[in-house]
Amino acid sequence: MDKCSFCGRDKKDTNLLIAGINGHICDSCVEQAIQIVEEELKKKSDFDVKHIKLQKPIEIKAFLDQYVIGQEEAKKFLSVAVYNHYKRLLQKVETDDVEIEKSNIIMVGETGTGKTLLARTIAKMLHVPFTIVDATVLTEAGYVGEDIESLLTRLLQAADYDVKAAEKGIVFIDEIDKIARKGDNPSITRDVSGEGVQQGLLKLLEGAIVNVPPQGGRKHPDQKMIPVNTKNILFICGGAFDGIDKKIGHRLNTQVVGYSIDREANKIDRDNLLQYIAPQDLKAFGLIPEIIGRLPVLTYLKPLDRIALRAILTEPKNSIIKQYVKLFKIDKIDLTFEEETFEYIVDKAIEFKLGARGLRSLCEAIMMDAMFELPSNKVNEITITRPYAKDKIEKSNVQKLKVAS
Ligand code: ADP
Repeated sequence: MDKCSFCGRDKKDTNLLIAGINGHICDSCVEQAIQIVEEELKKKSDFDVKHIKLQKPIEIKAFLDQYVIGQEEAKKFLSVAVYNHYKRLLQKVETDDVEIEKSNIIMVGETGTGKTLLARTIAKMLHVPFTIVDATVLTEAGYVGEDIESLLTRLLQAADYDVKAAEKGIVFIDEIDKIARKGDNPSITRDVSGEGVQQGLLKLLEGAIVNVPPQGGRKHPDQKMIPVNTKNILFICGGAFDGIDKKIGHRLNTQVVGYSIDREANKIDRDNLLQYIAPQDLKAFGLIPEIIGRLPVLTYLKPLDRIALRAILTEPKNSIIKQYVKLFKIDKIDLTFEEETFEYIVDKAIEFKLGARGLRSLCEAIMMDAMFELPSNKVNEITITRPYAKDKIEKSNVQKLKVAS
């Protein structure tokens, strides 16, 4: 009896057995093999910068525009930095002495204004490994928490342990402000929470060969380390830097402004101080100068106003509302919203101080009953009116919404 030479199945147990010179292969092994080949080829081309078309900054920004509302400056800065990162990776062996340096980025902005969203969106169009890590879990070696090197574990995992690919990757470090030194003055006593971690991070930002624990967490004497060179890894940092606006305001007040003919041009928009952020404000907040020096691209995100919140509901390519419409369409139900409903949702998000993150919880509260009941009813359309939305929100527990956001 003929057998599949791969899985050993008898001919009678297969749909088809293909004969080769010295063996046979069954239909299910063929299917599996195709899958393996496709995945492997995809992985190769995914991470091989030689295969990619270099997207220009304007194209990168246009892509970001589809998903992220507003934040023009941050998008522009990010697009240029990523473009330059690719150019660096593609550059030929040096013929002159000009070496393009890495332009690591730091983004400052209140929580829920789109920092992570920007990073995630950029990851969608990238052909290099990408990972998001939280700075709050990092500690100096020897303290409880994760060693700094574990930052790179995630990147290695994203690259399927392809070290060469990981060495060209991008790491988004969230909540970088949480490792700031408390206070501006370097103190003689050790500051476990901040400075040591910053020193460790500095090594990664500068470019060094780092021994990375493949499974992450704490270093373990028995664990075999993987050496990773961080020279070409792009770091994007994000943080809320709560209270930094006061430091910016203070600096602007005390700064001796030179004689200016155009007084208007020097007018400061006091409601939005973040736009004036400068490296010295990061220092005043407690980042060490060496770290700041290694994050040469500094940009900010604006707080989201009414107009932005309203746009976030419907405009992004995968906006919350578009997702609900799609969900209902699967059940052949036409879902529409009245404009006033959107205004109501935005009002509530502002009233409850939930920001963009709250939009989703508010929508969930409004849509839950409809999502529960309608698939079993014989309706084929529903319009969400303002009174309907109001009724659902009032019946839901607002406190709960706040916690959920
Ligand atoms: P941050 O990282 O700044 O704290 P996030 O990027 O995690 O904030 O934002 C939280 C959520 O709010 C996002 O998943 C997204 O749904 C929404 N959001 C925030 N800012 C924007 C924006 N500018 N455009 C579109 N959606 C946004």
